[in-house]
Amino acid sequence: MLSSQFLELKVKYNNQKLIYLDTAASALKPQAVIETEKDFLSSRYSNISRGISNLSVSVTKEYAQARQKVLQFVTSKSNGKLVITNSATTALNMAASFYEDKLQLGDEILVSYAEHHSNFLPWIKLAKKTGAVLKVLEVDNFGQLTIDNLVKVLNPKIKVVALTYVSNVTGAITPVRQMAELIHKAGADFIVDAAQAVGHMPVDFSEIDCEMAAWSAHKVYGPTALGFLYCKDRIIDEFSNFLVGGGTVDDINFADSDIKPIYKKGLEKLEAGTPPISQMIAFAKSIEMLQTVNIKNIVNHEKQLTEELINLQSLPGIEILGSISSDNRLGIISFTHQNIHPHDLGQFLDDAGVVCRVGHNCAVPIHRRFGKVASVRFSLGLYNNLNDVKQAIAVTKEAINFLDKV
Ligand code: PMP
Repeated sequence: MLSSQFLELKVKYNNQKLIYLDTAASALKPQAVIETEKDFLSSRYSNISRGISNLSVSVTKEYAQARQKVLQFVTSKSNGKLVITNSATTALNMAASFYEDKLQLGDEILVSYAEHHSNFLPWIKLAKKTGAVLKVLEVDNFGQLTIDNLVKVLNPKIKVVALTYVSNVTGAITPVRQMAELIHKAGADFIVDAAQAVGHMPVDFSEIDCEMAAWSAHKVYGPTALGFLYCKDRIIDEFSNFLVGGGTVDDINFADSDIKPIYKKGLEKLEAGTPPISQMIAFAKSIEMLQTVNIKNIVNHEKQLTEELINLQSLPGIEILGSISSDNRLGIISFTHQNIHPHDLGQFLDDAGVVCRVGHNCAVPIHRRFGKVASVRFSLGLYNNLNDVKQAIAVTKEAINFLDKV
């Protein structure tokens, strides 16, 4: 789909046609996004918010429109806002920081074995800081987070639950909407790590009813150094600062010996310093592209490719981590070979022009759960086609024939 928009696909890679199967790490950028950022930087660049020049006022407006466009892409109701950060990782650290003054000794935090380290480590840090206990929700044998397993562990001591929407290892989709209801009934807040969901399936945080949700633009065909924390309005009101600095205060009171900053209300108190302006303006184009192709068409396209990719399972010695059905999952497939190290497979694939990812992929917990140290991961984007997938499988087969000498 739209592959002509992605010029990097036309560049020879290792003297071959590039087959890019690493969208879960970061997506390629369409020309419209690149041109928009270039045009903005070369014709109308200015800082936002604190300028009185016409230039600054008009960029401030454009930036606000981009924020609105992104918000409307991931919500259907108007009871939440987007805090603009520089990554999903920053957003998740920010989400965890919200609870620093709200948890007490003995409270519990629930994460899962399916989490990326960016939605695991901030909660470990929070537990250490507050004296809360970190609990880890089990996955089933396919790496799936299930309602049954959640119900087994929910209890009134849990104050916050942070779960991935889509696993960056198995591609499994978590039933977050049903889980939100149960989590709220149990008296806890719900944080969703949507880094692998946005851009590959319809996402509506206001419908899920989660308190916060995080993701990054660079995985959604947008620029790097741009991330988001969706927050319900209630959370924005209750948030004390994460980072402080320029743009976060109305005044600083020197009247007493105790110097007191008068912090702004709303989003501004949470967005210190100059934000990723050009990235945000360019990202609006990624969203326009997704709206034009229509997310339903993307789902169907990537599902068809996923069905083909699952055929990897029939190669000798290959084990797919997680489900081998194309239902209830996205196009992220991690696999191991019984005799060949993932790094050797990855090197062979790369030499043949197939770009993928190898290692623990920042997901040690689920690799441990599957009894693995590392895996090879193929992940799809809208620009991939059946030929890419067939070629990746063919090269994997060649790699096995060449490397499996045991
Ligand atoms: N969560 C998940 C599920 C991810 O896959 C990633 C990126 N691999 C992140 C969080 C962190 O995203 P970023 O590196 O863009 O901050």
